[in-house]
Amino acid sequence: MVQGKRIVVIGAGIVGASLAYHLAGKGANVTVVDAGDVASGVTATSFAWINTTHNAPDPIASLRSVAIREYHRLEQELPSVKIRWTGALCYGTNTQPAMALRVTRERIRELEPQLKKPPEHAQFKAEEGALDAVHTTQALITGAQAHGAKLLTHTRVLGFKTQGLQVTGVETRLGVINADVVALAAGTGTPALTKLLGFPLPIDASPAIFIRYSAPSGIVRTLISNAAMEVRESAEGIWLAAEDFLGDAAHNQPAAIALRTARAIADELEGITSIEPQLACVGLRPIPEDGIPIIGELPGLSGTYVCAMHPGVTLAAIVGRLASEEIMDDRACPALAACRPHRFFPR
Ligand SMILES: Cc1cc2nc3c(=O)[nH]c(=O)nc-3n(C[C@H](O)[C@H](O)[C@H](O)COP(=O)(O)OP(=O)(O)OC[C@H]3O[C@@H](n4cnc5c(N)ncnc54)[C@H](O)[C@@H]3O)c2cc1C
Repeated sequence: MVQGKRIVVIGAGIVGASLAYHLAGKGANVTVVDAGDVASGVTATSFAWINTTHNAPDPIASLRSVAIREYHRLEQELPSVKIRWTGALCYGTNTQPAMALRVTRERIRELEPQLKKPPEHAQFKAEEGALDAVHTTQALITGAQAHGAKLLTHTRVLGFKTQGLQVTGVETRLGVINADVVALAAGTGTPALTKLLGFPLPIDASPAIFIRYSAPSGIVRTLISNAAMEVRESAEGIWLAAEDFLGDAAHNQPAAIALRTARAIADELEGITSIEPQLACVGLRPIPEDGIPIIGELPGLSGTYVCAMHPGVTLAAIVGRLASEEIMDDRACPALAACRPHRFFPR
């Protein structure tokens, strides 16, 4: 019964791809359906830092604490997943520095010799890294397909088939796809879908700016996050940056922010002979109203499983595995207890 359980995963972003990969690996009969292409949602514009630090008391600390280990596992299972484990150097922001991670100016100079103004202290998270979110998503989908998963791109889910209090499939332009479980990993598209089922989930489409630069290779060695910039170099030698969205005014359009950020980066680092924006755009992050991921069955509606979260890249590997265990083994995972959808629908 469990082997061959029919599961439709809506969304081929990094979250849906990870879920599909883990489900298919457990023997589910998986169909991934996406309105666009693989990784065509916000995953395409992610800075993709596997950032496990959090300031306030954190209801998902147990997820963050194993997020890195889960990516090391994925690298073993899927050799085409390649993560740059450069570590992250953070300072001058609101993040409370953990004493254990504190490094002095001398060490900062070793880590980032091109910094013009190395601070007295910083936080260095040596075990952290970043990935190519599009490439990783494609690798997960390919891994799912190797376990028999089917992929339908350019196929929007338009509605659901239900039988009493059970969802039994999805409606698409190709017709109905029957399912024992429909997993909703549709990013910012998730609330529109759950609304059709009578559960309008409060998930904001929160804008942030993604920038790609061509600039000299080898200057930024770690991932630097400070008050002036958040920047790293990709495996291909492209520089990536993420910035806050500041509104719609002309001087805050992505292209203008990319130029301002380029100047800020050049002010911070020696040796930048040129830094040219290649791409600057807004990405919409699916951020639940209370900041906590939404993972699990919609209350009283069997055959559903929601997977919507931020930071989705950081959490995709661990959540994909745990959610697949819940769906396939019918076993509630304590680490996901704070994430249940029913918190938004008190009886
Ligand atoms: C500038 C920027 C920087 C970021 N930096 C980081 C970072 O450093 N670390 C981190 O962890 N996160 C970061 N994020 C957030 C991260 O990118 C997202 O949390 C993650 O990509 C979400 O993945 P997802 O699969 O949930 O959503 P998506 O990638 O949006 O995938 C959802 C998919 O669902 C599909 N879909 C929607 N509705 C339907 C429908 N009705 N039918 C069929 N398909 C549908 C869409 O086409 C889409 O492909 C950043 C985001 C931005 C914009």
